[in-house]
Amino acid sequence: MRLGDYIDDYCSRCKRTTDHSVVSMIGEAVSKTRCRTCESEHKFRHNKGNKEMTAREAFDKVLASVTGSQPAVPEKPKRRKK
Ligand SMILES: [Zn+2]
Repeated sequence: MRLGDYIDDYCSRCKRTTDHSVVSMIGEAVSKTRCRTCESEHKFRHNKGNKEMTAREAFDKVLASVTGSQPAVPEKPKRRKK
């Protein structure tokens, strides 16, 4: 991640997750972002602060509901991390 890179973050003015540009960094961490929709700058919120789920969270939730609704398969080891 570098200055000027595009990043998804939550914009309090747009009240949703929008495309942002990185405008300030502290070391390797993104510090400030600028919303590419309304051009407002704010601290990087790590894409949090809204009730919308990120694509990853939505995917995990769908996956959990799918695997939870299927009958258990005793022979298959679970909880393995990839
Ligand atoms: Zn905005």
